[in-house]
Amino acid sequence: MFDLVIIGAGVSGLSTASYFASKYKKWQILLIEKSSHHGRGISSRNSEVIHAGIYYPKKWLKSRLCLEGNNLLYSFLEKYGIPHKKTGKIIVAGNDQQETAIKKIYSNAVSKNVNGLELMTQNQVRMLEPDVKCKMGMYSSESGILSTERYMDVLLSIYKGDGGYYLPETEFKSVNNSGNKMNVTLHSGQDGESQIATKYLINAGGLNATSISENAGFTQVPNVYYCKGHYFKVHGVRNSFSHLIYPVPDKTYLGTHVTIDLQGEIKLGPDAVYMENNIEDYSEYLSEKSSFIESVKGFWPKIDNYEVVEDMIGIRPKLYSNDMNAKDFIIRDEAEDGYPNWISMYGIESPGLTASMAFGPYIDREFFSNTR
Ligand SMILES: Cc1cc2nc3c(=O)[nH]c(=O)nc-3n(C[C@H](O)[C@H](O)[C@H](O)COP(=O)(O)OP(=O)(O)OC[C@H]3O[C@@H](n4cnc5c(N)ncnc54)[C@H](O)[C@@H]3O)c2cc1C
Repeated sequence: MFDLVIIGAGVSGLSTASYFASKYKKWQILLIEKSSHHGRGISSRNSEVIHAGIYYPKKWLKSRLCLEGNNLLYSFLEKYGIPHKKTGKIIVAGNDQQETAIKKIYSNAVSKNVNGLELMTQNQVRMLEPDVKCKMGMYSSESGILSTERYMDVLLSIYKGDGGYYLPETEFKSVNNSGNKMNVTLHSGQDGESQIATKYLINAGGLNATSISENAGFTQVPNVYYCKGHYFKVHGVRNSFSHLIYPVPDKTYLGTHVTIDLQGEIKLGPDAVYMENNIEDYSEYLSEKSSFIESVKGFWPKIDNYEVVEDMIGIRPKLYSNDMNAKDFIIRDEAEDGYPNWISMYGIESPGLTASMAFGPYIDREFFSNTR
């Protein structure tokens, strides 16, 4: 009998497991992961950017948890010596329309008390990044980059150190209610099917979060739309930017940006291409290099001097397709389907990495504190 079972060892499951194991020392907690290694899903295929919480509407979870997560994450990375860098970021406008959009983004962010923002003239941007061409820009000092792999390794080892149980190669199969506990069926390659019981359960299954809930028999599961983000690497250039450079976002994603990693290498992307099927397939590039370069060229004309090669693909579990308005994360209990102690995390796309350390405290405050 466990107090809490968590499905999925990506950043959401790992940070949540580690929060509860350290806060409730007497709880028996089990984290399960279907793969042989933690963090090989969405969490290992992203930009590794620590966002400042600039874009989303004030009341959205994406906004609140990103702001809270940003602070918690920097403190955690400092405390455990995990490689990271507060690089700062510049959003650039190339024309009047984009300038108006940036000013709107700026006032929205200021109204949410996002720290470290400054509107900049073309010359001010050039002083920071001589290769960037723009009409004006917005600077954010609280944006940065981290080693996600190291972050996840440290979370897992802290969790285990606090007495948490971890089972890789173990998949959630089904659940049924029995009094005030849930009986959960798991499947592992080694042991086949097994049954456990738990009081609480958190579904942090990333791309599979909705199918896990469907397997549980829930009837109100939101639709998910897989959306590929392709990356390209720029060869033969290193340390030519010291900030992250972003265009003005559109309604579905932040725009093809220039990211630097901790070694100073430059990556372009991701773009956003909806997939026809919700299949976790990373093999096929659905984007053309040329159109990709074209979208960056507006603010980085020197891109033409370099060789650009395919790098990697990530997939977002979006809760909206490209003809719908953007939607917030959904983190909710499944009381409507008779499971008040089952918490589902749906649509954990960007800024989920930044928000990850805020998920555990949020779930504790919203769902667990009244029932204990
Ligand atoms: C292209 C791209 C760029 C991004 N860039 C950024 C960024 O720069 N900054 C930022 O803050 N966020 C970013 N994000 C978002 C961020 O990466 C995600 O929000 C975060 O990694 C989601 O983590 P997760 O733990 O919810 O999912 P995952 O990492 O996918 O973890 C879910 C885990 O559940 C496991 N699982 C699935 N089904 C089962 C089952 N039945 N039983 C057991 N285990 C199961 C999976 O194997 C997986 O390991 C980006 C995302 C993408 C796709």
